[in-house]
This record gives sequence, structure tokens and C-alpha cells, in this order.
Amino acid sequence: MTALKERRWYGGVLAPEVRYLSARLEIRSIFAAINQALRPSPCIWVLTACMTVSQLAAAQAPPVSAAPAGRFVVVLDAAHGGDDAGGRLGNGQAEKAFTLALSVRLRSLLAARGIQVTTTRESDATVDLNRRAEIANHANAQACLSLHGSESGSGVHLFVSSMAPVQPARFAPWKTAQAAWVTRSLALAGTLNSALLQAGMTVTLGRTSLPAVDSMTCPAVAVEIAPERDAGKKPIAELDDPGYQARVAETLAAALLEWRTDAWRTTEAHQP
Ligand SMILES: [Zn+2]
Repeated sequence: MTALKERRWYGGVLAPEVRYLSARLEIRSIFAAINQALRPSPCIWVLTACMTVSQLAAAQAPPVSAAPAGRFVVVLDAAHGGDDAGGRLGNGQAEKAFTLALSVRLRSLLAARGIQVTTTRESDATVDLNRRAEIANHANAQACLSLHGSESGSGVHLFVSSMAPVQPARFAPWKTAQAAWVTRSLALAGTLNSALLQAGMTVTLGRTSLPAVDSMTCPAVAVEIAPERDAGKKPIAELDDPGYQARVAETLAAALLEWRTDAWRTTEAHQP
């Protein structure tokens, strides 16, 4: 059953460097509060490290086709890939393989429900962070999930950009484009959180600097899956447990269906 329902939304307007550092501290404090025996999520360290490799050449990302406005499109971003293996998971599996498998599973669940999906990668390819944001922005998506895996912590960790919300502008600076979408991203995280809690999973919410997400012009959440643990912190479902993977993917798919229903309801409410 759910042992943790910690909710920590961090705001604040800080210089990017300060915010970046404080975000790392926030992550550490979140995990310290949750589970003092565990170190901060290696995946998040990888996330921060991603900033230094953002200039790697875009390699084999799938072609981008702009979706017409008004259609409900979900972008799945399987984090890492190719030269960037991500963290090392419990059974020796590279995080990049876990995120791709989850993306594929989630894509087929969403497609079966009639939801159009765009992915940032379909193979073990190196995809530059800017390219990931570019794919998401061209897709005109109503939701983007950046998928990660981690051995630290418990259950599902949901991260939203730590940027302070701003009003949408016609020309948004690339690296801070997400600021105009943060409010919607928090709402999306709320919908994911409710569905996961309802499914009996442990959920941790946080805000941090997310290099790929911060350039996205859509509601975007980084979803990091960790093993499910009991009250004594002993793993009860590992990341390579097919049943656990299926439960997480099905719950995320159900949450996205609900998000679509809410989006349509909102659209109808605004029509004359
Ligand atoms: Zn990761």
C-alpha cells in the first residue's frame, strides 16, 4: 500500500545557476526525507549531467511531423539512449533500455485507446536533448512524459520544471520555454499522481531543472520509476518485474485518458 504521499512543490525565482544547484539540493532533501538509507537518485544525477552532453549531434531521432492543432497527441520521451546509457539498474540493465521498453509498452497502450503518440526515439539511439524538445514542440502535444528509471527511492517520482510560471509570449526563449507551461505541467502531474495513488503506488512529487523538458512548449512531466518498497524499504517489486512494469504503464495510460477527457471538456467549455 501507499506509504508515502509526500507533496512538495517548489517555486521561487532564482538565477538559473542557483536554481540548478538548489534543485539538486531539493532532490536530495526529498529523498533524504523519504528514505534516509538511500542516496539521491542516480537518475537525477544523470539528468543534471545531461546538460553537459546537450551539444551531442542529433543522431537517429524519428522524423518529426507536425500534428494539426486540436488533435490530442502525447509525446513519450524515452530518456537516455545510444552513447548515454543512463543509470545502472538493479539487474544490471541500463536505464536507457528500461526507458525504451516502457515507452514502447505505453505507446501501444495509448494507441489501443485511440491516442496519437509521438516518440523521441524508437531504438537505442543517441538523441540530443534539444532534439527531444524539438520533437515534442513540433508534435503540438497535449502531454509529454519524459521517462526515467532509478534504483533509489520507491515507486514513481514525478518531476515538473522548477521554473517560475510566466504568461505565454509569442516568442519564448528556447531554454526557458517551459515556464509558460509550468501551470499546465503541474496539473498534468496532479492527474498522474491521483491515478498512481489510486492504483496503490507510492508517489513522490518534486520540482527540478529538467534540461530537455525546460525547452518544451507543452504540459510536460519527468516520470522516474523506482522499485516499489514496503515500509521496511525492502523491494517488493523490482524494475524488471513484468507485472510491475505493466501496472505502471497501464496506470499512466489511464491517467492520460483522463487528461484527454479533461482537455476536451475544457475546450468545449470555451466554445461559444
Ligand atoms: Zn534518467
